[in-house]
Amino acid sequence: MTPDVSTDWIEGGAAVVYQHCPSCIHTWYFRRSFCPGCGHAAPSTHTSAGLGSVHASTLVHRAPSDEFRAIAPYRIVLVDMAEGFRMMGHAEPSLAIGDPVRCQVKTIAGRALPYFDREPE
Ligand SMILES: [Zn+2]
Repeated sequence: MTPDVSTDWIEGGAAVVYQHCPSCIHTWYFRRSFCPGCGHAAPSTHTSAGLGSVHASTLVHRAPSDEFRAIAPYRIVLVDMAEGFRMMGHAEPSLAIGDPVRCQVKTIAGRALPYFDREPE
């Protein structure tokens, strides 16, 4: 089965899907039924273009499970996405703070997870 490109990776798709509040203009990730900023009950839902820049980066040496120990050390980043929300994902080992990145959903340690590659400027 090919993952749906408009369904969030958490729900088995191949996309990053974020939400936006039409009342207070707050933008967030992950899906909720109301705005975490003002409580508005009808947030809009959008598919991210997958572009952003690295806000923080760490190299994980002590992995949380046998599956992840097999790929350690591996890089985890926090990314400021172009649409205005921040998310975490696995990443290319050479990435550093400020690098432009693109997200794709990849199979990592047997799971479909967001992975950031360097985006040519
Ligand atoms: Zn709001």
